[in-house]
Amino acid sequence: MKEKELLGWKNVIHYAVNGSPKPDRVIMKTEAEWREQLTPEQYRITREKGTERAFSNDSCARFDPGIYNCICCNTPLFDASLKFDSGTGWPSFTEPIKDNVIKYDKDISYGMVRVEVMCNVCEAHLGHVFPDGPKPSGLRFCINSESLKLNENG
Ligand code: FE
Repeated sequence: MKEKELLGWKNVIHYAVNGSPKPDRVIMKTEAEWREQLTPEQYRITREKGTERAFSNDSCARFDPGIYNCICCNTPLFDASLKFDSGTGWPSFTEPIKDNVIKYDKDISYGMVRVEVMCNVCEAHLGHVFPDGPKPSGLRFCINSESLKLNENG
């Protein structure tokens, strides 16, 4: 993988306020097409900004090598080597695989100010990013496991 500059919280805020980097491609499908392709739970989370129950499966405690791709459009999003055990019950990563695979947006729902993260190619809701992650990035990408698919050959 090509070396990239480490993403930090300042970059995240900049992207959430001013717009995210341009993706390499854009995929748009109708609601019916997404429903056909996804399970009801995957659809609820990725297309309706849902959240899975914490500890709803064992994926956050698994650290098999590979690349986590978007469940909707298969874009590589996170490298398993940058996954860490945050104790939250959701898969957690310190960095995306490339800056322009993630779309950042302000989220003021539920009386909180948060930064939502989406797939920048198909706008699948993935989760949120917080500034309390481990060094060196200091970021915690808190991602629904239903939004991801591990490619062990990636
Ligand atoms: Fe996607």
